[in-house]
Amino acid sequence: MIAQVIINLSLDKAFDYEIPEKLEKQILPGMKVLVPFGRSTRDGYVVDIVAESDFPSLKEIIDVNTSHLPIPVPLMEIGKWMAEYYCCSKEKAIISLLPGAVRSGKVKTKFFTYYKVSDNDTAKKYIEENGKRNKAKARVLQTLLHYLELSSTQLQKHADTSKSVINLLVKDGLVVEEKREVQRDPFEGSQIIKDTPLKPTEEQLVALEQIYEVIDRQNETCDLCKKKEPHTVLLHGVTGSGKTEVYLQAITKILEQGKETIVLVPEISLTPQTVQRFRARFGNLVSVLHSSLSDGERFDEWTKIAKGEVKITVGARSALFAPFKNLGLIIVDEEHENSYKQDESPRYNARDVAVMRGYKEKATVILGSATPSFESYYNALNKKYILSTLKTRVDDGFMPKIKVIDMKQERALNSEGGVFSKELIYAIRDRLASREQVILFLNKRGFAKQMQCEECGFIATCATCARDEDHPVSFTYHRERETLSCHSCGLIIAAYANCPECQSSKIRYPGLGTEKIERLAKGIFQGARVKRMDSDTMTKMSLYEDTLDEFKQGKIDILIGTQMIAKGLHFPKVTLVGIMYADMSLFSPDFRAWEKTFQLVTQVAGRAGRGEIKGEVILQTYSPYNPAILCAKEHDFEAFYEEDIEVREQLLYPPMARLIVVHFRGENEPQLLQFIETFNKQIAPYLNDDIMVSPASPSPNSKIKGKFRYMTMYRGENITNLRQALRHYALHLKKSKNIDVYIDVDAINLM
Ligand code: ADP
Ligand code: ZN
Ligand code: ZN
Repeated sequence: MIAQVIINLSLDKAFDYEIPEKLEKQILPGMKVLVPFGRSTRDGYVVDIVAESDFPSLKEIIDVNTSHLPIPVPLMEIGKWMAEYYCCSKEKAIISLLPGAVRSGKVKTKFFTYYKVSDNDTAKKYIEENGKRNKAKARVLQTLLHYLELSSTQLQKHADTSKSVINLLVKDGLVVEEKREVQRDPFEGSQIIKDTPLKPTEEQLVALEQIYEVIDRQNETCDLCKKKEPHTVLLHGVTGSGKTEVYLQAITKILEQGKETIVLVPEISLTPQTVQRFRARFGNLVSVLHSSLSDGERFDEWTKIAKGEVKITVGARSALFAPFKNLGLIIVDEEHENSYKQDESPRYNARDVAVMRGYKEKATVILGSATPSFESYYNALNKKYILSTLKTRVDDGFMPKIKVIDMKQERALNSEGGVFSKELIYAIRDRLASREQVILFLNKRGFAKQMQCEECGFIATCATCARDEDHPVSFTYHRERETLSCHSCGLIIAAYANCPECQSSKIRYPGLGTEKIERLAKGIFQGARVKRMDSDTMTKMSLYEDTLDEFKQGKIDILIGTQMIAKGLHFPKVTLVGIMYADMSLFSPDFRAWEKTFQLVTQVAGRAGRGEIKGEVILQTYSPYNPAILCAKEHDFEAFYEEDIEVREQLLYPPMARLIVVHFRGENEPQLLQFIETFNKQIAPYLNDDIMVSPASPSPNSKIKGKFRYMTMYRGENITNLRQALRHYALHLKKSKNIDVYIDVDAINLM
């Protein structure tokens, strides 16, 4: 037999190796193996086992590597599919199925050594005969006779002795040691407070019935019946409508069938509170895969899943590759979130791969959101997914009233009205007086968008990110740290005290950032406790949790923040949400700009009025008549979809067509353009008439860190051939070392 093995060399190639007889029974696809390669040896993964090879005289596999359990075969299939679909090399895709901690082989299973006496009578006899002469040894034996077995540290403590005495007893054969596997526990010390299922509301009941029907259908054996019916449910439920309770009851059904569940949540929502809701219902059947686990914990969580010791895992994007073998359900919460798309190779969207994995493994998929992505909603309208809707909040809470403030008028009427409108100031004062809480949202960190000299007009810009004089990239000014930072490349420099051009000290800071809002708020609302929450202040997960706790306990009156505060948080005392400048995301050069604005406004507004008291939202904007703002004001997703889908239809943008973006990057612009030309010549034959091409042009961020960036966009319904050609040439066309080319299929980030 012959094993096809991938080795991590980015060659996009599997190598054939003979399986030696002694390993024939052991080797399976998904296994890690040691193979000879050139003059050395390497680790690789078996992707397939075949009977024949095109190559004569193959080398033999040296050994299997048992540092981790094999990747389950159906999951390997997903890896192969991703390599093709997302146009990356085979090894990139396969390797991304494993957490780094598992793949590295550096983390080892953790063992504890336990001790017991080899034989009770011999031990007693030894104590009788030698107890006086050898007190230390006798004490150990006595202790073990009492406790039966103890770990090394326990034994040393209880017998008041040292490791060397124990070792001597082992050598004498009086004590035996036994190594046993133990698991690192990310939940260590945290208690589970069990909860019981809530009685579903009428709407939840309807949704659950739809979901159960899909679940039951997955067990049908007739492939023909199954193919026709969707296996994916889009759960469109307004914020606070009880989507999580629906997930929990669906999981219960899956558990009853002896199957497993993956729950994906965006990284930013993966807080202990989120995991707690699942643990409260399912206790130790829940495992967790998130970025603040130690390598050891991650290794053990992964192993528990692979062994089937847990039935549910809750995690961010890559938890989709949890090595369950009997998967019944995948839940993707906040399915519209961009963070499900990985922005490095493989550039997969976990939501879409979830649908694919569900299909291949006969598992039901639930996509949940208050603001579904257009892609998912389109699929639901076209009956590819089943649409399930929760229109009302569970606690009879009303949706918060959204009041739109036209900032152009505000500015005309009120000379100081640049940042805080009068309405907003009054409303905040009102809440402060009645001891309620306020959230202020702005999607831009830092103090100001720019640092500008009033005398000569100089603007501080990032030198490595400006393509030419006409395309400057201005630094964001951070007052707290007195720095200028480039939000394109991450460069940070000390802020100028004076203008570097004319030495003037008259500096302006136009444009809004959360830091400026914080400073202004502290000035206007004297005595209020104000705190800011963005990636500048929340540098650790623990800080984030502490701040949320403080807020929950009422120790903060006004919480100011970026997207970080927009997600799924539940604060009953928040009765006012201020959206400082809703236009921030409206005018980016992206066909999804309106959609993103609608989602953001809805998410942020959803934080208001989650308790007894009715919530209010004040939304400040310079575009009060933009459909995204108008529809968000009315909480009307359907109306917004109908409005915006027309534009997509006219311009052939997703979901009306597939979108592939090819990115080209290089330091030398003429050389880069030359390469693009060669590349496009190869691709030309694969372009059908119905494919729309936006020829290579500078990306909106046209230079970052000294590298010029170009992109080509392809849109069309039938792009499979094109995709294959792009994949082939991007991976295999000869290019000079300092040029990068990569393909982004179903692209989301258009920068
Ligand atoms: P969503 O995820 O849709 O925003 P949640 O699942 O967080 O909503 O539910 C909002 C609140 O309603 C939670 O406090 C939850 O415990 C409660 N809840 C959900 N379903 C029910 C129910 N059937 N009966 C009573 N309370 C419920
Ligand atoms: Zn100047
Ligand atoms: Zn830069």
